Amino acid sequence: MEFKKIQLNGFKSFAEKTNFLIEDGLTGIVGPNGCGKSNIVESLRWVMGETSAKSMRGSGMEDVIFSGTSNKASKNIAEVSIEVENKDKEGPIQYRELEQIQVRRKIEKDKGSKFYINDKEVRARDAQMFFADLSTGAHSPSMISQGRIGALVTAKPTDRRAILEEAAGISGLHVRRHEAELRLGAAENNLKRADELRRQQEKQLANLQKQAEEATKYKLISDQIKKIEAGLYYLKLLEIDKEIRIENEINTEAEGEVEGFNNKISELENSIKIFYR
Ligand code: ATP
Repeated sequence: MEFKKIQLNGFKSFAEKTNFLIEDGLTGIVGPNGCGKSNIVESLRWVMGETSAKSMRGSGMEDVIFSGTSNKASKNIAEVSIEVENKDKEGPIQYRELEQIQVRRKIEKDKGSKFYINDKEVRARDAQMFFADLSTGAHSPSMISQGRIGALVTAKPTDRRAILEEAAGISGLHVRRHEAELRLGAAENNLKRADELRRQQEKQLANLQKQAEEATKYKLISDQIKKIEAGLYYLKLLEIDKEIRIENEINTEAEGEVEGFNNKISELENSIKIFYR
């Protein structure tokens, strides 16, 4: 695969659409200090999925959007696209059949970045993986920015290993392994959460079982209480009935006695009447 063209639009000092063709052989960009040479290299790193605004020499990623000059208004969108030619039909398996591949990154104020491969929106990770499989990328040792040569020469053997790994074409595998590790970590976390949830549910179930047992016991006891109370009321009723009966008997007896006395009084009154006549 070969990089053929970089297009910048609204990116840093490139306010207007600007194309850089990468021809066969060595391509050089020559210009005075501050004309934007480093911006071009940064645009390459950016379209490859750079996530650090600091390494783009900005405080936030939106700083890559053209901020305007005294005679040109600022922009709201920055876009960089890179065209890759795939004559030999190699590279990442899903793009192997395509002759031309375009990777594009766009940033809009307050909306963040979006990535596209052949105009189809993809995740940042997909764009990063695409370049990793081509043994390059935003952090690839094949991209050497100003002042980095010295750092590479004096690099520790472990850091140099990255260069060898990339030459061996295994950086894509590293990215994939990292992704798999992240997925594994997420799965483990989910598992832990599920386990914790299960324990909570078991605790709740035990509580509910206890409550259900207590409710059954309560129902049994309150049924017994109701039965005993009904028995007590029945006994009380019998007693009251008996008392009413006795009172009625006393009443009848008293009424008989009163009647007897009344008769006697009438008799005596009659005798008195006869005596005075
Ligand atoms: P040197 O040779 O000194 O390293 P250079 O050619 O690499 O310079 P760059 O550092 O790429 O130049 O570009 C710096 C220029 O880009 C500065 O003039 C700066 O004002 C301009 N610039 C950077 N970001 C933006 C932006 N967001 N909007 C407008 N201009 C910008």
